[in-house]
Amino acid sequence: MKKTIQDFDLNNKKVIIRVDFNVPLKGKKILNDNRIKQSLETINYAIEHNAKVILLSHLGRIKTEADKKNKSLAPVSKRLSKLLNKKVIFSKDTRGEKLENKINKMKNKDVLLIENTRFEDLNDKAESKNNEELGKYWASLGDIFINDAFATSHRSHASNVGIAINLESGIGFLIEKELTKFDLVLNNPKKPTTLMLGGAKVGDKIGLIENLIDKVDYVLIGGGMAYTFIKASGLSIGKSLLEEEKIDFCKKILEDYPDKIILPIDSVLAKDLKSKVTKEVFINEIEEDDMALDIGYKTYKLFKEHLEISKTVIWNGTLGMTEIDKYAVGSIKVCEALKNIEAYKLVGGGDTAGFVINNNYEDIFDHISTGGGASLELLSGSKLPGIESIDEK
Ligand code: ADP
Ligand code: MG
Repeated sequence: MKKTIQDFDLNNKKVIIRVDFNVPLKGKKILNDNRIKQSLETINYAIEHNAKVILLSHLGRIKTEADKKNKSLAPVSKRLSKLLNKKVIFSKDTRGEKLENKINKMKNKDVLLIENTRFEDLNDKAESKNNEELGKYWASLGDIFINDAFATSHRSHASNVGIAINLESGIGFLIEKELTKFDLVLNNPKKPTTLMLGGAKVGDKIGLIENLIDKVDYVLIGGGMAYTFIKASGLSIGKSLLEEEKIDFCKKILEDYPDKIILPIDSVLAKDLKSKVTKEVFINEIEEDDMALDIGYKTYKLFKEHLEISKTVIWNGTLGMTEIDKYAVGSIKVCEALKNIEAYKLVGGGDTAGFVINNNYEDIFDHISTGGGASLELLSGSKLPGIESIDEK
């Protein structure tokens, strides 16, 4: 078990918290402050326990000096101040005397936010390559390190691993919650368990399939990735997504788990993405110039039958090209069905979580991971370096 923020006496301590403030920005406008809100519990806990709170986060990617202009955390500092109802001290410097002076002047319960950690990437990718000196330097600014940035915990960066190896460390409430929810579905799921997969590429999901296939009872496969499986089963898929180099993998899975893998039996097709005309056909009726962009109604019914008998549902990958409304129908219908299904339901993956939230299906699910790539790594059974590097209890 990893130490958590609750395992430390924070009174009078300088507590460095790695948060995830990687919010979508348009200019200086924050389009969605969900990520800031999700870190409030940990920040407030540290304030309530009399800590001096030092916050670190990245925002986007910094490759050139010009990138800094629109990737500053200054707007986040303002929003955080509003949400905490409290002054937030902002340091434009990611290191140096001015930053150190600001920290030295902090009183208990003060909150200081340091500018985007990736500004350090202009210095030979010091942050993203976990430069040893940088991790040590940031660690020297505090007494205790708390990692609460789940979405970057699959990366080994100076602002997570680099600090953790130099300080006493624990996880925050957000990471603790993510780990608890994943532990439930991965290690102790109620049976039957169904894994519902979609998305564009088989290649993105191989680790996940390999890790989960023996643990789950059914694997429902929709989305673009289904068509490499369908091709592997010997049918024509027209212009639908195909990963030639993954056909052998798909064949092997279909051979080894013939009863577990449930593939689409019909599809919504168009001649191209812009086409207004669509048709719905059986899976063996796809013509050469057709492109499959969503599951059909019969597939939805088939998926629903399996979901209805499941006690645990793990979902990653949208079942159609959901960026276009008419190809979101399959995924919407499945969400509607899930409303009435009593199972433990978890969603992982950035696009899938975005789809669920944008369509107001949040309430149906027991957990929607904020993790994106990190959630896929967990489902794939990989260890996350940002969490591995944290002290054990
Ligand atoms: P996550 O980010 O949650 O892991 P993915 O990125 O794997 O999810 O899946 C979402 C993406 O899959 C979307 O961009 C969607 O357009 C794409 N997708 C789903 N079905 C199809 C399809 N039939 N053809 C092409 N792309 C598809
Ligand atoms: Mg994605």
